[in-house]
Formats: sequence, C-alpha cells, structure tokens
Amino acid sequence: MKQSSLPRAWPHAPSYYAASAHPAPARPPAEGHRRHQICVVGAGFSGLSTALALAERGYDVCVVEASHVGWGASGRNGGQLVNGYSRDLDVVAARYGRTAAAALGAMAFEGADIIRDRVHRYGIDCHLRDGGVFAALNRRQLDALVERVTSWQAHGHDALEILDEHTIRAHAATDRYVGGLLDRRGGHVHPLNLALGEAAAIEALGGTIHEQSPVVSIEHGPVASVHTERATIRADTLVLCGNAYLGNAVPALRDRVMPVATQVMATEPLGAETAARLMPAGTCVEDCNYMLDYYRMSADHRLLFGGGTVYGGTTPADIQARLRPHLARTFGELANVRIDYAWSGNFALTLTRIPHLGRLADNVYFTHGYSGHGVTTTHLAGVIVAEAIDGSPARFDAFAALRNHPFPGGRLLRVPLSVLGSWYYRAREGLGL
Ligand SMILES: Cc1cc2nc3c(=O)[nH]c(=O)nc-3n(C[C@H](O)[C@H](O)[C@H](O)COP(=O)(O)OP(=O)(O)OC[C@H]3O[C@@H](n4cnc5c(N)ncnc54)[C@H](O)[C@@H]3O)c2cc1C
Repeated sequence: MKQSSLPRAWPHAPSYYAASAHPAPARPPAEGHRRHQICVVGAGFSGLSTALALAERGYDVCVVEASHVGWGASGRNGGQLVNGYSRDLDVVAARYGRTAAAALGAMAFEGADIIRDRVHRYGIDCHLRDGGVFAALNRRQLDALVERVTSWQAHGHDALEILDEHTIRAHAATDRYVGGLLDRRGGHVHPLNLALGEAAAIEALGGTIHEQSPVVSIEHGPVASVHTERATIRADTLVLCGNAYLGNAVPALRDRVMPVATQVMATEPLGAETAARLMPAGTCVEDCNYMLDYYRMSADHRLLFGGGTVYGGTTPADIQARLRPHLARTFGELANVRIDYAWSGNFALTLTRIPHLGRLADNVYFTHGYSGHGVTTTHLAGVIVAEAIDGSPARFDAFAALRNHPFPGGRLLRVPLSVLGSWYYRAREGLGL
C-alpha cells in the first residue's frame, strides 16, 4: 500500500484524500487570552459550516481545532452527499409527531444544495459530482425505497427515480441489486478538499482558525470561556462540534453519542474505461443494509469502497481483510485489485439515529450524532445553528425539541465492544426505537 509514501509530518489519516489534498496554510495554535463574538470547537463539516454561515452574516468567528482542518470524519469519509437522515421520516412522524416530521422533511434535501452553493460561490475544487443511488439487495429493501420516495415526495422532494434490476446497472454494473433509488440531488465530493476550501472561505471573510489546539474544558457564563492548554478564548456564544472525537472535554455531551468506526479503501487507478464500465453514470452508491457497503469512483478513477462497522470506534487491524470480500462480491473482476490506501474513522451514533442539536446554556450550542450520514446534514446543521444565533431559531428548535436518549454512562463506552454493540441493539429494542 502507498501509505508509507505520505509525508511523515502529515497529520491526517493515511487516506487517499490526504495523499491528494490541496496544500493548506499552517494555522498556528491558539495562545494567550483572546476574545471573539463566536467560538466554534472542531473544524469538521459541522464546525466549518457553522463558522462559514456566521462569517457570511458578519460575525467575528474563531474556530479551535484539536488537530487540523478536516482531520476527523469530515476529511476521510466516503464523500457521498446522502440526502435525508439516518431515520426515515415516517419513523420521525411515528415517534415525534407530524409537525416534527414536516419540519425535518422540509430540510431533508437542503444539505447537498448548501454544499453545491458553497463550492460554486467560493470556487472550491473538490470534484463535486451529481447523483447518488441507494441500492436494494432484496425485494424488501426495494419496497422500503418505494415507500421512502412516497414519503419524500409528500415533503416536496421529487428529483427521485426508482430503478429496476436493469436500470440500476447504469450506476453499478453488478448483478447484486434488484433495484434502487436514484437521488439526483445527491452526489459526491473529495471531502478533505471541500473542508479545506470551506476553511479558506471562513478566513477570507475575516474568521480565525487555530489548529493543534485541543479544548480541555469550557466554562459557562454570560461570556463563555474555552480553555486549551495554552489559551483561553472568551466568546459571547460557543458552538460545540467535536462529534465522535470530542471525548471527555464536555462531560454533558459524552454519553449522548457513541463513536462508531467505519473504513474505506482506495484501489489503484483503474483507468477511465474500466471506471466508466463499472459505474457508467458517475454517481455514488450505498446499499440498504444496516451495515452497509458504499462506493464511488474518484477523479483519478480509483474505486473508493467503504463499509465495516466497529461499535466503540476502534480501528480494525486489517481493513483490507474486512472490506475486500464485499468489494469482490460487488465487482468480481476487482477481487485481486491492488489497494493503495485503507483507513478508518469515527462517526457519532445517537440511540435514535436522528441528529442531536441543542443548547447546554442560552449561549452554548452543540450539534452532533448524524449516525453515519453526516456530509449533508452537518452542512444543514451549521446553517441552522447560525440562523438561531442570528435570531431565527425556529429550524434549530425543531431539531432541539426531539428527545435524545443518553447512552447509559461514559464508562460503559469503554467496555469490550462486542458487549457494547449487542447492548446497543437490546437497548434500542427495549425503548421501541
Ligand atoms: C470512514 C467514514 C466514512 C463516512 N462516509 C460518509 C459518507 O459517505 N456520507 C456521509 O454522509 N457521511 C459519511 N460519514 C459520516 C460523516 O463523515 C460525519 O457524519 C461528518 O463528517 C461529521 O462531521 P463533524 O464535523 O460533526 O465531525 P468531525 O468531522 O469528526 O469533526 C470533529 C472535529 O472536532 C475536533 N475536536 C474534537 N474534540 C475537540 C476538542 N476537545 N477541541 C478541539 N477540537 C476538537 C476533531 O479533531 C475533529 O476535527 C463517514 C464517516 C466516516 C468515519
């Protein structure tokens, strides 16, 4: 694998994205005492989207990042712009009522459009492509997709098309699927280059980003404080966006999400002809299994193939061994293809699989827990957090009103993962989720 060819000092996971990232400026750690209107903790898509939306509105924003821009899930994910949430809207309606479902339904396709708008407005070079497919492995999954279309259409979203076993082959030339759903407003990007482009846009609008500045604690008050080892940043408003990597820095959020690891590998370049034969439409695909496979072609015609799920968020010893059988089942001719990069990262799961947005105090906001589908929803969350701070909280409050169950106890998150995984399913069943 090519991972050893990455620069020694490169801070990111050993991913294809890190190896093909655009150059980024050094962003010095925070030092001393600083004062800003807004302080955002975490420079993943949640933090960057929030900061950019606020900077666009003229706020003085400072982002504090433990590692580097896009270091977390945002810079190493499958790059798939998946609209909707990890829970279907009819489940939201059944659990939280029609008003909640209507509010979330109206926003369900906005995230990908926010990304498109920013890519165009700021000229971000991240190989944005349109179109995403949900692939059904059996009749039951296809029936569920048909129901999902009906539900989404009822909320006004209609750039959707049901695919049969033949038409889905324009998206993935495999006989694994009985059909699928094409979302024309979905798509895919190079996520690390999107994050780096958004960071540059924040700075161009006057915002500040400090890297290598892990926040160790926060202090509430009319002016809140964020403490790193070398700095104290005082701000009128804090926004906490550490997601699966926040750890113990904010105890009140620790048990609200569980870190879950998922993995991606990148093949050697396959050549334009093979890439066009395997995925003719140039869309991205995810299947409908709970522990799903997801894949797409990169700009240089590699297949980026993701899957695998580790509850608790540890990196498996042999990523290739986990993913290669799934790749071989999907595209038999790639069974022995060379893998150039393989990496793992953590997303944050909520017990309800609905994103968790809220306030710890009047001036301390948080957003996390996208439950595996966060590329679009982080962008939406950032915009609606910014709206709330700017005096229009209705859309934020629609999310914040949804009750989110805590995982019982931070210590439990450190028990053997198999126990935790099975506990998770039992707890969900017990709560009727
Ligand atoms: C391998 C993988 C594949 C995925 N594929 C897809 C996909 O194809 N489509 C999709 O929709 N979703 C996908 N996801 C999920 C998606 O990437 C995430 O939901 C999303 O990126 C979360 O963004 P975030 O900004 O909330 O968190 P992150 O991107 O994880 O960012 C959090 C940031 O906060 C920083 N931080 C944490 N604690 C502190 C602290 N104390 N002080 C300062 N900074 C701190 C971290 O260093 C990190 O940079 C995938 C996730 C993974 C891991």
